[in-house]
Amino acid sequence: MIPYGRQEIDAEDIQAVVEVLKSPLITQGPKVEAFEQALASYCHAQHAVAVSSATAALHLACLALDVGAGDLVWTVPNTFVASANAARYCGAAVDFVDIDATTGNLCVQALAEKIANTQEQGKPLPKALIPVHFAGASCNMKAIHALCAPLNIRIIEDASHAIGGKYEGEPVGCCRYSDMTVFSFHPVKIITTAEGGAITTNSGVLAERLAMLRSHGITKDKARMQNNNAPQWYYEQHELGYNYRLSDLQAVLGLSQLSKIDRFIQQRNHLAERYSQALKGSPIGALQVPAHSYSSYHLFVIQVPAEQREPLFHRLRGANIGVWVHYIPVHTQPDYQALGFNHGDFPVSETYYQQALTLPLFTTLAESQQDFIIAELLNATELKATGLK
Ligand SMILES: *Cc1c(COP(=O)(O)O)cnc(C)c1O
Repeated sequence: MIPYGRQEIDAEDIQAVVEVLKSPLITQGPKVEAFEQALASYCHAQHAVAVSSATAALHLACLALDVGAGDLVWTVPNTFVASANAARYCGAAVDFVDIDATTGNLCVQALAEKIANTQEQGKPLPKALIPVHFAGASCNMKAIHALCAPLNIRIIEDASHAIGGKYEGEPVGCCRYSDMTVFSFHPVKIITTAEGGAITTNSGVLAERLAMLRSHGITKDKARMQNNNAPQWYYEQHELGYNYRLSDLQAVLGLSQLSKIDRFIQQRNHLAERYSQALKGSPIGALQVPAHSYSSYHLFVIQVPAEQREPLFHRLRGANIGVWVHYIPVHTQPDYQALGFNHGDFPVSETYYQQALTLPLFTTLAESQQDFIIAELLNATELKATGLK
């Protein structure tokens, strides 16, 4: 089966990991620090904090903004459940803003309307908004920031799909229009540390808090301790934190992967362009990348009539093409329905989902494999168009 996504690990990556494995320090150490510096520099951000996953990163980002019980966080339904769950870990409530059907990203108009309606009804606004850069193309951050900043709604970008992408010519993760940006290094994403994630920010205060929360809320920095007579072994816990650390084993893999990211992104864009060209003039639609964005192309999503999506899924899977679906709208999950959300609450996300199919896209996908996928796809839709089975 050709998967929808897959990591590319080369001899250099393996060598780097083996070297750390032979060193005395295999948990969080100098490689994590080096990875953080490389990430911050690549993203044009002041700080990067590496953690054990993007889910952990989202959780800590919410905590660092003091999101807690009684607070509200907004995100989009068209995302992995982790974007919404993060707020709930903190005891906050979640609500959603619908998407733009052409990009799969947060709809700025829907955000403006939801803010206006919330104010009109005298209800509380969210403490934070988590826009998701779906498939690798950035949301319209300038417009989102313009709506949120005057109301003190903090912004956490979920860029799990989008490291290596650009917004208005600047790297995703530079945080020009947000408080923090979160990345995932799961193997299906752009670069990998097996499991792993990171947060970039331009706030020294947030970066320090994130680093402390990542490790039990403990500081070993004498300058920050309440006990000014601390013996050498002493550490202080200042708030309730977690063990969300990344290991040096993982960080060195991340460093090695990051050195290849520009080639990865070029290859993804090249393959995406080949899909787009092949689908031109066919009845199959594809998500658009807005003019303000250079996509990292984590996913290539096509759109087909809702009644054809499931048969097409099975037909392509039958040909060993591992198509997949991104995403089941979060508010339709049973655990969210139990919170009071209903089918029909976010109709654009729901219609988008019924028509969406993700084609395989990863750096080691051969053009011959891609040609096979395209042929099978066009063949299937042609048969349907002529009414044959
Ligand atoms: C993958 C993903 C996550 C979670 O990432 P992990 O590193 O697996 O925790 C969160 N949000 C989005 C949009 C994702 O795609």
